[in-house]
Amino acid sequence: MTDLATAAARDASDRLARYRDLFAIPDAGLLYMDGNSLGRPPVRSLERLTEAAHEEWADGLVRSWAHWVELPAAGGDLLAPLLGAQPGEAALTDQTSINLYKLATAAVSHRAGPIVTDSANFPSDLYVLRAVAERAGVELRIVDSTPEMGTPPDRLAAAAEGAALVSLSHVAYKSGALADMAEITAASHRAGAMVLWDLSHSVGAVPIDLAGCEADLAVGCTYKYLNGGPGAPAFLYVRSDLQPVLDQPIQGWFGHSDMFAFAGEFRAAPDIRRFTVGTPPILSLAAAMEGIRVSAEAGIGAIREKSIALTELIVDLFDAWLAPLGFALGSPRDPRRRGGHVAVRHPDGRDICRRLAEEHQVITDFRGPDSIRIAPAALYTRFVDVWHAMDRLRKLAA
Ligand SMILES: *Cc1c(COP(=O)(O)O)cnc(C)c1O
Repeated sequence: MTDLATAAARDASDRLARYRDLFAIPDAGLLYMDGNSLGRPPVRSLERLTEAAHEEWADGLVRSWAHWVELPAAGGDLLAPLLGAQPGEAALTDQTSINLYKLATAAVSHRAGPIVTDSANFPSDLYVLRAVAERAGVELRIVDSTPEMGTPPDRLAAAAEGAALVSLSHVAYKSGALADMAEITAASHRAGAMVLWDLSHSVGAVPIDLAGCEADLAVGCTYKYLNGGPGAPAFLYVRSDLQPVLDQPIQGWFGHSDMFAFAGEFRAAPDIRRFTVGTPPILSLAAAMEGIRVSAEAGIGAIREKSIALTELIVDLFDAWLAPLGFALGSPRDPRRRGGHVAVRHPDGRDICRRLAEEHQVITDFRGPDSIRIAPAALYTRFVDVWHAMDRLRKLAA
């Protein structure tokens, strides 16, 4: 199963193959394995940027705000099926770190108590949660995690006792470990805590069922697997029954129940707009929505199926080629416990990753101390791309 002909045969029968043509790929020789950091641009997003700039900005001018004000909520509705959410439960707004700050603060203001997270969480999340905990005067509990196994749900459940909030990444940014959202959410609820999921590394790569898990809150990026564009607005999710009772800390006019009344007093909107703040970045939003549309159209079931096949090929080639060269697997072996990328570890990982890009046209990324992350985004990565990327990696490291 590790030969090039088999990889080519899988491309020939790949039902998502035609999606590659929907992306702008100016340099066909470049093997791009970093879609979990910045997705490639859909052709339609580039066209939409031009169209929005000319027709809506240049021609429409300020009149375009009549429909632009609806875009954060409309973008949330477009995204909702990929989150397992209902219309009205998500919005495209601000950055992930800012949304995390808003929702974590809202949660601990609603019910005071410790915040629980794990050591595998993204550094920005850890900084934000630490700051929220310090300002609220509550404890931050950090549960230990391992790259290969993720974070044991029973340890999380024990830490959640008496806590107000459990906040975790669904897929760990370094190892790709996939948390059991249903089990952890249920255990946290039994312990009396709300749950806030960071979906940055799972949305567009892994099926998500926020409603089915009865998750309370979520945030995430659109510029990774959703191909929304550099700095594209992030999203937030607040379960509908919680929207009227949670108060987020940044009260701006876009969160007002009647923003154009220009009232002197803040009155929070009763719906998802309550969690937005100020003027949205319209051009970025327009591009992000096209990115989301491509993933929604392909369907997360088909995306996940191909993603697993691609990461399984990486693991097979790792076993055959890289393990004998002194690499270690930095991700869970079981594909059911892994997101859309695979980390391979090597003491010279930083240098190998740099040379792979500079000398061999393979873009991966490095996360210290020793992890090279390989992310074959399913919508535009071929099996032969993975094969060649791994082949160049082994030749470089031999
Ligand atoms: C990429 C990522 C972020 C990025 O946050 P921004 O505020 O959008 O820069 C946050 N959290 C996680 C888990 C991520 O993977």
